[in-house]
Amino acid sequence: MKRPSIKTANTLDPQSVACPKCAAQFTFYRSSMPEMDECGFEHYRLECEMCETTLVGIVDPADDKLLLSATS
Ligand SMILES: [Zn+2]
Repeated sequence: MKRPSIKTANTLDPQSVACPKCAAQFTFYRSSMPEMDECGFEHYRLECEMCETTLVGIVDPADDKLLLSATS
């Protein structure tokens, strides 16, 4: 697992994420007005373009990375 050693100031930079189901890579753009879940995490719902799985993700506040999981 690769971790950046320097935390960038601009957390709204697009990041490359992979579909947890088919491993397709796509670019994720954070919203400046994100939805928040009940724990206070930024919450996103998106669809994989390859396998059309609905994915839900939260942004890890420790490193601003999107953590995706597939809904069944
Ligand atoms: Zn997929």
